[in-house]
Amino acid sequence: MSRVYNFSAGPSMLPEAVLRKASEQMLNYAGTGMSVMEMSHRSADYEAIIQGAEALLRKLMNIPDNYKVLFLQGGASSQFAMIPLNLMKTGKADYVITGQWSKKAAQEAEKYGTVNRVASSADKTFSYIPALDPATFDPEADYFHITYNNTIYGTRYTELPDTGNVPLVADISSNILSEPIDVSKFGMLYAGAQKNMGPAGVTVVIIREDLIGNAKEGTPTMFNYQIHADNGSMYNTPPTYGIYVCKLVLEWLEELGGIDAMHEINIKKAKILYDYLDESAMFRGTVEAKDRSLMNVPFVTDSDELNAKFIKEAKAAGFVNLKGHRSVGGMRASIYNAMPTEGVEKLVAFMKEFEKNN
Ligand SMILES: *Cc1c(COP(=O)(O)O)cnc(C)c1O
Repeated sequence: MSRVYNFSAGPSMLPEAVLRKASEQMLNYAGTGMSVMEMSHRSADYEAIIQGAEALLRKLMNIPDNYKVLFLQGGASSQFAMIPLNLMKTGKADYVITGQWSKKAAQEAEKYGTVNRVASSADKTFSYIPALDPATFDPEADYFHITYNNTIYGTRYTELPDTGNVPLVADISSNILSEPIDVSKFGMLYAGAQKNMGPAGVTVVIIREDLIGNAKEGTPTMFNYQIHADNGSMYNTPPTYGIYVCKLVLEWLEELGGIDAMHEINIKKAKILYDYLDESAMFRGTVEAKDRSLMNVPFVTDSDELNAKFIKEAKAAGFVNLKGHRSVGGMRASIYNAMPTEGVEKLVAFMKEFEKNN
């Protein structure tokens, strides 16, 4: 069976070259006579893998020396609790509500302190990024949280809020490695790997050192950034194989020219789909043009039956996982780094044909 174009929002496509390399090394990694899956995380071979992954991530994202990089488990969703547990020193934080993930992050934080929802785009099904008025920010908040790219609704920030001395914290699960991010503007960044970086099971946290070491009393050991930072993400067994695949993805990205080169490809790739959505009489994008994500592209027709027909026929033609999130309906094409431009070109050709025939 040949491979399909997989538009899943996550877990999502991985570069074919990465899967091939992993498969070549599956039974015998670099002459060790074993799979990376079977390796002690304390072995020299594995240490080279996790340290290599961190070094490459630091290089590609230009991460300053005063930031720690942690490879954790529990998904981005565990960070929704870890952030307030570790960062809410005085017990207050600002959250911008731009979709399900930021809503969940804010709800979780509320268990530990006071959450100030500075703005929300719930009034229009999160189809835009709300304008932010610094007068509504709490200058004494412990941190200010945003979801940089909204995986479900297909929006993204094009301009970051100026939070002054309040550390900016961003969920970058669905746009990590897709565009340059100036890490020094943030107190903390975090991402589940399964969208744009590797397999599910790895969560990357990039955190400024001065924000570590203030965990609330009673914080579980495994939820304390200090513990993980002091132990080089090896306090307990890290997700060893997932980190190894992340390293292969980072090597693939470096070979391709790094994040700037990837960003250019992503801009062109997304434009192919958005241009067609703008000219089509049948399909249209659901997001305000200025806030469109490069990674997740929701679109609809005017009829539920037509949407269902399209999804079914697309699947039969090898374009899979195009069904939109249940809260938006219609379709969503997630076009992460690993989706080749050709996949989007072929999808658009298929959509044009579908429009003509229907
Ligand atoms: C997928 C996703 C999450 C949830 O990630 P888990 O790893 O499943 O916990 C959180 N935030 C964003 C932006 C996501 O895309």
